[in-house]
Amino acid sequence: MGIPFIDLKGQFTELEPRIRERIDAVLAHGRYIMGPEVGELERTLADYVGARHAVSCSSGTDALLLALMAKGIGPGDAVFTTPYTFVATAEVVSLVGATPVFVDIDPVTFNIDVAALARALEAFEKGDPSIHPLPANHAELKARAVIPVDLFGLLAEYRPIEELARAHGMFVLEDAAQSFGGAFSGRMAGSFGDMAATSFFPAKPLGCYGDGGMTFTDSDELRDAMVSVRVHGKGVDKYDNVRVGLNARMDTLQAAILLAKFERFPAEVERRQGVAENYAEALAAATGGAVETPSVPDGYRSAWAQYTVRLGDHAPRRDAIQTHLKEAGVPTAIYYGKPLHVQGAYAPLGYAAGDFPHSMHASAEVLSLPFHPDLDRATIDTVAAELARALETVPV
Ligand SMILES: *Cc1c(COP(=O)(O)O)cnc(C)c1O
Repeated sequence: MGIPFIDLKGQFTELEPRIRERIDAVLAHGRYIMGPEVGELERTLADYVGARHAVSCSSGTDALLLALMAKGIGPGDAVFTTPYTFVATAEVVSLVGATPVFVDIDPVTFNIDVAALARALEAFEKGDPSIHPLPANHAELKARAVIPVDLFGLLAEYRPIEELARAHGMFVLEDAAQSFGGAFSGRMAGSFGDMAATSFFPAKPLGCYGDGGMTFTDSDELRDAMVSVRVHGKGVDKYDNVRVGLNARMDTLQAAILLAKFERFPAEVERRQGVAENYAEALAAATGGAVETPSVPDGYRSAWAQYTVRLGDHAPRRDAIQTHLKEAGVPTAIYYGKPLHVQGAYAPLGYAAGDFPHSMHASAEVLSLPFHPDLDRATIDTVAAELARALETVPV
């Protein structure tokens, strides 16, 4: 028996005729760079998200980068985010020469803790790291932006975050790489903050067959700036360079594949809710509450990019539990095993391991289980039963 961690093959089988039709259309017109599918996808997804503009690009990482470059973020700027995320969130901050300022997560949602963000801003303004840990160079920085991450598909708390940002003259960039299809209070992921960035990496909720990303904004000015940065800082054309930019376009072929896959996407997001409900039931029944299943606060709809449980008292045996599950045909993953403040790349910020205890604790006890919209109840029961067996039999 082998359960796929995510089932891209099954999805392709179902969508194959539409995907091939779309690819054939591109091969026929031959406009591989910025072909008509790119604009069609941007209009389609801007509508879905409820944003005025969408700017497609070459990856989720480049989407974040486009947004920061369009805002002119650079050396001397502080950008607040959590250390419990994929490295790209903080990496783009460093790439433009700015400094990430880390804020711990809420242990229930895995997203930025708003009270901690308020303390970080107070510490930053008073220049006092005894109020909240700050990076070594904090005295040279100006607070410019917050990048809340919608981790595992659950949106961050944008209302209080946007209020705090406004009060401190900062802008908000939603990292919606994992939350495309998710929502809060009827508003879709990708429509929060001044700008949002998402990813179409194959394993994300809406994935292409390679790398791809998109930014969303209601601002005409930011949209124009991102369109310019995307193609070498172009002015009237790419041989007129009004700013330093990137080559960060989305391939027409990837846009065509996404258009075909999007036809089924809203229904997939609905099915993901049922899969998550089945997991919660099956795991509670099989393990008697020994693992903590994800909780979605009222008003939120997760895109379920990952189904991540906490092993609690069993966390010290996580390696052996993973091995047991692997041998039973159940693949698992650990997102994320090492928070960014303890990564070598961020050693120059001078943080101590204990600065962000909730991030450290989460990284020691999380385990992500197989998840895709077509996961049936019988398979979910098998995963739950194997996890329960691992908890009982794996030695300390
Ligand atoms: C995947 C991801 C990214 C980067 O997206 P890519 O398309 O892989 O470049 C950024 N932030 C988060 C939270 C992600 O999960």
